[in-house]
Amino acid sequence: MSVPLIELNGICKVYGGIDSPEVQVLRGVSLSIHPGEFVAIVGTSGSGKSTLMNILGCLDRPSSGSYHFAGKNVAELDSDELAWLRREAFGFVFQGYHLIPSGSAQENVEMPAIYAGTAAAERHARAAALLDRLGLASRTGNRPHQLSGGQQQRVSIARALMNGGHIILADEPTGALDSHSGAEVMNLLDELASQGHVIILITHDREVAARAARVIEIRDGQIVSDSAAGQPPVVIQGLQADDLRQRLNQGAVERGAWKGELVEALQAAWRVMWINRFRTALTLLGIVIGVASVVVMLAVGEGSKRQVMAQMAAFGSNILYLSGRHATLREPGGIVSLDDVAAVAQLPQVERIMPVIGGELMVRHGNNNQQFYVGGNNIQFPHILNWPVVAGSFFTEADERSGAAVAVIGQKVRDKLLAPGSDPIGQYLLIGNVPFQVIGMLAAKGASSGDQDSDERIVVPYTAAAIRLFGSHDPEYVIIAAADSARVSATEAAIERLMRQRHQGKADFELTNDAALIQAEARTQNSLSLMLGAIAAISLLVGGIGVMNIMLMTVRERTREIGIRMATGARQRDILRQFLSEAVMLSMVGGVTGIVLALAIGGGLLLADIAVAFALPAILGAFACAVVTGVVFGFMPARKAARLDPVKALTSE
Ligand code: ADP
Ligand code: MG
Repeated sequence: MSVPLIELNGICKVYGGIDSPEVQVLRGVSLSIHPGEFVAIVGTSGSGKSTLMNILGCLDRPSSGSYHFAGKNVAELDSDELAWLRREAFGFVFQGYHLIPSGSAQENVEMPAIYAGTAAAERHARAAALLDRLGLASRTGNRPHQLSGGQQQRVSIARALMNGGHIILADEPTGALDSHSGAEVMNLLDELASQGHVIILITHDREVAARAARVIEIRDGQIVSDSAAGQPPVVIQGLQADDLRQRLNQGAVERGAWKGELVEALQAAWRVMWINRFRTALTLLGIVIGVASVVVMLAVGEGSKRQVMAQMAAFGSNILYLSGRHATLREPGGIVSLDDVAAVAQLPQVERIMPVIGGELMVRHGNNNQQFYVGGNNIQFPHILNWPVVAGSFFTEADERSGAAVAVIGQKVRDKLLAPGSDPIGQYLLIGNVPFQVIGMLAAKGASSGDQDSDERIVVPYTAAAIRLFGSHDPEYVIIAAADSARVSATEAAIERLMRQRHQGKADFELTNDAALIQAEARTQNSLSLMLGAIAAISLLVGGIGVMNIMLMTVRERTREIGIRMATGARQRDILRQFLSEAVMLSMVGGVTGIVLALAIGGGLLLADIAVAFALPAILGAFACAVVTGVVFGFMPARKAARLDPVKALTSE
């Protein structure tokens, strides 16, 4: 005699106990079902039929008693093995159809095969063939709410058959159908029984039960009659219990194709997200703002860094500034004299030196007058500031010695005071009432340095400025070019020593360099970035909480869907993966939106003349942040979904 496929011994099921009164629903059910049988379990409503079916289908565990499936004790199977049984051995047909509302008929039918790891092409073909066989060829793309009850039930039968459906567990399959559709479904079950499927049909209707070869009556959780009692089991060729047991032993551990599952999970996620798009959009704002502020912040930071670099390149990085200052608060400010300048110029580390005296003065030409910065400099000007003359020539050492009233002008002075584009050489300007002749024009520098005002300046010989314009001989400050830009700090130390010596040891002067200035600027930049970073972090946190919120809502709204997925064979980790991929997908959508928003903001800033420079690593980093947020904050809801009890999930509202 063959091993029974299903063998129950003294199965009891007790509900409640801790917080609600104890209800004993099944009281010692013993039962054997062999391959090829068509069994009806009949009983009045509340007699425990559905409870029994849930136990038979491994959706629920009995409180006591033993269940052997194909000779294996089900109590010893882990959750993956139980999922394997639901997926490969059983096919469920419920009174309420239990289709996933957001999926099409085709997608609903394919689901068990996805969890079984069937290749996509084979899956599509098989689902289409099954739907065709059940007369639904023209309805494959319809969603459940677009199908009649009879059609939905046929879809669920197709789903039950998707992985073979060796044992069809049908709980009141005709209960919600009109008599015509009900008859159709019964004919289908008959046909399947004759093809060798084990059918376990649960019904309260004796007439329906009479279609089965064997009728078991249940009352108050006990079997009161069994038409097969005492008769030898009918064994039909085909499915053997040993066969299934063997496959269970190998199959439960083998992994399905995760790719197919992932694709399905993402498609399902997208569908649900699209249905709730308004809610989703609102909740994603946090991530959008977080990602956008990270990207914009980094782009602005990078932009201003590049601007500073451009300024450095334009003015040279070997430049030092020397000026007087108060050594202590009580003493008068120190002065760097022209003698100091001459002494510093003798240092071997110093390549060039230029005293500066200057200020804003009214400059007039004809009827035009305007304030410009007028600086007294020496012939080092074009070299030390890396600023060539493009028209005429710079003044000479002789001009400097004699204090000649000659001027070299910036291009904006020409444009504003003379005619734009005109030739300024030879023209006379009245600078503070002193006539100066223009002998040269500087290259336009504003564009490369980023400082638009740098072209609004006039350069005159130091001596002319000191005597004719400002009435002072001491330079305001001194610009020094170190001979070796790699040894700026050594140069600085040498100048410092010399100046101390010359100033009786007093530090009544100040020595700075471009690098220091840029570092100071970078520090301000950093604190700004830090603040923006904090905003971004908070937004991402809020966004993450939003994702968690959506996911918790989704899990609650779709508890029944989770139950359906489990009944069709999803493992816990499949459910976990599904909801985790939903969370990641949500955050990815938020991340992409954030990046688009950031690019738009960046465009706006560029129009407003603020330097921005988008860097790909920054964008990718922000996107990765969003994805990580999705994983971190989606994990808890996903785990909650995965740990749901299949029966409770299925029967939830
Ligand atoms: P049937 O399917 O035969 O109508 P069920 O198996 O659904 O009967 O239920 C049998 C009995 O068990 C009913 O009295 C019902 O109230 C009770 N019952 C079912 N599920 C639960 C549960 N989760 N908690 C408490 N009682 C339950
Ligand atoms: Mg029931």
